Amino acid sequence: MIFYNFLTRRKERFKPIKSGRVGLYTCGPTVYDYVHIGNLRTYVFEDILRRALEFSGYKVKQVTNLTDIDDKIIKRANEEKTDYKSIGSKYSKLFFDDLKKLNIKKADVYPKATDYIGEMLKLVGKLDKKGYAYKGEDGSIYYRISQFKNYGKLSKLKKREIKIGAMTSSDEYKKEEAQDFVLWKAKKPKEPFWPSVYGDGRPGWHIECSAMSMKNLGEQFDIHAGAVDLVFPHHENEIAQSEGATGKKFVNFFLEGEHLLINGQKMSKSLHNIYRLADLEKRGLDPLAFRYLILSTHYRAKLNFTWESVNAAQNALRNLHLSVLRVAAETGLKKENHPENKADRVRRSVSYGESGKIAYKAGELFKKAIDDDLGTPAALSMAWEVINNGKISPKDKMKMILKFDEVLGLGLGGIIKEYGKTPVKIKQLIDEREKSRANKQFIQADSLRKKIEQLGYTVEDTAQGPLAVRKI
Ligand code: AMP
Ligand code: ZN
Repeated sequence: MIFYNFLTRRKERFKPIKSGRVGLYTCGPTVYDYVHIGNLRTYVFEDILRRALEFSGYKVKQVTNLTDIDDKIIKRANEEKTDYKSIGSKYSKLFFDDLKKLNIKKADVYPKATDYIGEMLKLVGKLDKKGYAYKGEDGSIYYRISQFKNYGKLSKLKKREIKIGAMTSSDEYKKEEAQDFVLWKAKKPKEPFWPSVYGDGRPGWHIECSAMSMKNLGEQFDIHAGAVDLVFPHHENEIAQSEGATGKKFVNFFLEGEHLLINGQKMSKSLHNIYRLADLEKRGLDPLAFRYLILSTHYRAKLNFTWESVNAAQNALRNLHLSVLRVAAETGLKKENHPENKADRVRRSVSYGESGKIAYKAGELFKKAIDDDLGTPAALSMAWEVINNGKISPKDKMKMILKFDEVLGLGLGGIIKEYGKTPVKIKQLIDEREKSRANKQFIQADSLRKKIEQLGYTVEDTAQGPLAVRKI
């Protein structure tokens, strides 16, 4: 596999530290509000990354943190007249609901910052011992950037540029240098705090990710991912803290996804230009249509969100689902080897002969697209090519499509299984409609079709007979 490594700004061949295994850390949300679809673009990209690694046979350990203590959470807790814990659990749950709707696989560990305070303090202790930490005038502990000679190696910012960037900070005078960042914030009135040898306080944001990633994945691990806004200062500071403390290279690959834009601007809470997944659903859009939209753009390209584009993605996804059902129908819907019963067990090998050969080739091209820095647009078109290729048998098509969906996660296996679970009531209405049609009672047939639609299904007439498809 080849990934664009942000550390070197080049595409590099991926090699894990331990053969066959990958340690993957993906920065998670600050749980003080709903996530927006910009955040979700990043989580989908990271899900594709994880699935692609698994598709290549790696055993992946993915760790995604939940930042459950920070200024915004404390503010929200005060607004909602509750504490940071209930804010954290409320918004974590909503975050997980959105992930599920987007077919994002669960990470292996979701560490919460407040469960790792001890680890964070240990790290601050190590930095202190090596001269990387000092106490500011306000009693907080800061990281001394001038001590870390590789500072800027990820963001490629020169020290002078960093200084200018940080100059606006109002608490500058408390630190030795403007760009130094906080490791441990001294307690403030009416804020939650933890006791420590550095005084009562709470952790800075950056130290959280260094502590939680190294505790779960080791001092050195393979891949760290996020979106480009995290490159500086967050990921840069994580490197400074981790490498400062251990003296070892922290992470081999940094993968940074581009933003979701709206009207050409980054979607973000501070610009008040956000949509949530629920806003899409209110407009009758399936969350997976948004996933499809994301896949149709490479993760390192900016993606401008418009209702037209997400509607077009919904149509494309709907066509894909329908095509898959048609292929399933062609493999013999009524037989016991019906794919709806076999979707999970389906053998991954294709048949001998011309169909198998072409399908196999398509599989190789799909893998090549994904292995080349997660080329999802090309991978998606391979899925369409397989479906539309008249030389591939329906059975081989089915096998390939289900295999591709292990990476794409567009619910293609699910749609077949779901088809098997079409409610009896819908099946009866469809049969009645068929009879009416056969008797040329077209008005009645039409009203039956409407009834079916009211129940959330549409009827698609195919060469193999009518198909009931859940509306998306
Ligand atoms: P936050 O809750 O702001 O820390 O963001 C959570 C994740 O979403 C981080 O990885 C951010 O980099 C990412 N993110 C924030 N805004 C966008 C956006 N407009 N497009 C893509 N990713 C974003
Ligand atoms: Zn982080």
